[in-house]
Amino acid sequence: MDIFKKLLLDRGPLGRHQNIEEGYFMFPKLEGEIAPRMKFRGKEVLTWSLNNYLGLANHPEVREADAQAAKDWGLGYPMGARMMSGNTDYHEQLERELADFVQKETAMLLNYGYQGICSIIDAIVDRKDVIVYDAESHASIVDGVRLHMGKRFVFPHNNMENLEKQLDRATRITNETGGGILVITEGVFGMSGNMGLLKEIVALRSEYDFRLLVDDAHGFGTMGPTGAGVGEAQGVQADIDLYFSTFAKSMASIGAFVAGDKEIIDYLKYNTRSQIFAKSVPMPLVIGALKRLELLRTKPELRDDLWKVVNALQEGFRANNFNIGTTNTPVTPVLLNGTVGEAANLAMDLRENYGIFCSVVIYPVVPKGTIILRIIPTAVHTLDDVEQTITAFNAIKKKLDDGYYKEQHLVEFSE
Ligand code: PMP
Repeated sequence: MDIFKKLLLDRGPLGRHQNIEEGYFMFPKLEGEIAPRMKFRGKEVLTWSLNNYLGLANHPEVREADAQAAKDWGLGYPMGARMMSGNTDYHEQLERELADFVQKETAMLLNYGYQGICSIIDAIVDRKDVIVYDAESHASIVDGVRLHMGKRFVFPHNNMENLEKQLDRATRITNETGGGILVITEGVFGMSGNMGLLKEIVALRSEYDFRLLVDDAHGFGTMGPTGAGVGEAQGVQADIDLYFSTFAKSMASIGAFVAGDKEIIDYLKYNTRSQIFAKSVPMPLVIGALKRLELLRTKPELRDDLWKVVNALQEGFRANNFNIGTTNTPVTPVLLNGTVGEAANLAMDLRENYGIFCSVVIYPVVPKGTIILRIIPTAVHTLDDVEQTITAFNAIKKKLDDGYYKEQHLVEFSE
């Protein structure tokens, strides 16, 4: 069979919805300056779907630094991979400052989070080693694990008892192969908002021998007394062997980094294929990241502002009997029950009639019958935004409970 024909028969779990959803739920266009209020299809919406936690995306100092760096250096500089011709003092300065910020000896800049973490996993393990990872890990971790030629064991999300079982199995295998064990988890899980149980995982070191890699994409800049992330929040930052974060969230940019002891970061510099065989991070992004990091360090009020909104929002939802799961971070999932069709009607109603834009998560990402409206608060939202949102959610929840969205099919969706 023609390979393209086969693809087009099905289009994949998301592509299947392309004809009815594109431009609305998939690939929507949010227009205007990045802010809590933007335009969607010509109408103003209160936006809760951008990971702009600290509001840096449109911070005047950030905009200025980005523009000036683009003017001074252009987007091309430096050309080539970091190892060959793409290194600069600025890249090294950023690495030093990132390492200091997350309380590690050294850091390595990565040109994207996704490739970066895949490739780090690939660089660390060989077929004798065993990877043990959390079942709710981000796709970039899962894809890194897929590159691994040896055994991999997954433990149910945050289930420490099961993790111990997997470590037991892994230890038996590595005793035979002579390999080691890499445990991978996240600081903050982006769907549930749960923190990874880093403290508990680290405690297992008394019985098992393993190294720990933590993806703290959502925790960097938002969690811990200085914003150094979930390790800092749980008092175990020093026990994380490799600390990873992307710039795609609090830093409101592109790029990522991994930090740890100098000798292992040196190893990664020479063995991470996504960096050796790809172009270095362009100068405006490096200089822009230095500015963002300076603001993270010097403006703790940005984090305070974020948490004021987070607390008001989460307390508001709880007080109004919404189920927001077990989040203990800014990520706020509102869990509702309904079909995919109801989810679509409800989300359209929210956007069109209540002016609220948030991500809607449905089957197959969550089990059939569950709808998650995922809210990402930021430092630039206001308490009025929170109030407007709770009021709107009360209204749509009532409609959902009354079966309103069953009949009111604004769009047709296949289950
Ligand atoms: N890890 C996690 C947990 C993420 O949420 C993301 C998505 N931003 C990535 C890795 C990938 O990062 P990037 O967008 O920089 O490729």
